[in-house]
Amino acid sequence: MPELPEVETVRRALDARLRGRTVSAVLVRRPTFYRRPPAAALRALEGATLRGFSRRGKYLIAELEGRPSVVFHLGMSGRLTVGGESPHVRFELTVGGESLRFHDSRRFGRVGCPLPALGPEPLEPAFDAAYLRKVLRGRSAPVKALLMDQRLIAGLGNIYATEALHAAGVRPGRAGGSLRRAESERLAAACREVLRLGVELGGATLDDESFLDPLGRPGRMQERVRVYGRDACGDCGAPLLDTRRSIGGRASLYCPSCQR
Ligand SMILES: [Zn+2]
Repeated sequence: MPELPEVETVRRALDARLRGRTVSAVLVRRPTFYRRPPAAALRALEGATLRGFSRRGKYLIAELEGRPSVVFHLGMSGRLTVGGESPHVRFELTVGGESLRFHDSRRFGRVGCPLPALGPEPLEPAFDAAYLRKVLRGRSAPVKALLMDQRLIAGLGNIYATEALHAAGVRPGRAGGSLRRAESERLAAACREVLRLGVELGGATLDDESFLDPLGRPGRMQERVRVYGRDACGDCGAPLLDTRRSIGGRASLYCPSCQR
């Protein structure tokens, strides 16, 4: 699933390419994809001039001249491409002579959704060690689930939460409230650092159904992951374990040697 660095990579590419251009046509190709008919959201785009693209957490926002903005969520496998064909194109916009296509091989991506209440992002000043301590204090939920709760902290998903916990030396299944002060300080710094690196490297492209930017280019964060998608720890070489405690029904790898 695209997380903050992947969505930011998409935002930068689309903003550079399409800012100031006008949407001259909207074509819905696979309407069954939507939970609700997207007609209103797509009509809102027709004839609109793009002031640019912004982002909040994992949400991409098309800012329009003189009209309300339109929010996109890429879900698990959604992609936005300039040109580029696939069997999974759900709709396309003609923007200044280029085709902006929304692909989704599954059914979780959305357009025209409301922007929910979201916590601060780790790369913003509102997120610091004191804020993270407040989020974790007294909580029995796994620390990884708290990191991935977008209402508390916006932008982290499975990849970057897994990597931040490893960098901080904290096991994902530990209760949020069990972290000592030094651990939560390390974890806050690690959240910032993995996201900063992910943005710098253009996101993580981990497998064949994985992330590509709007021009079809892979990211490079996968070259730097120490745990996610690996069998052995990238730092010490120890075989990785999966936490027994279910965290959102997903794998939660950790290194039994580097993480306590
Ligand atoms: Zn290790």
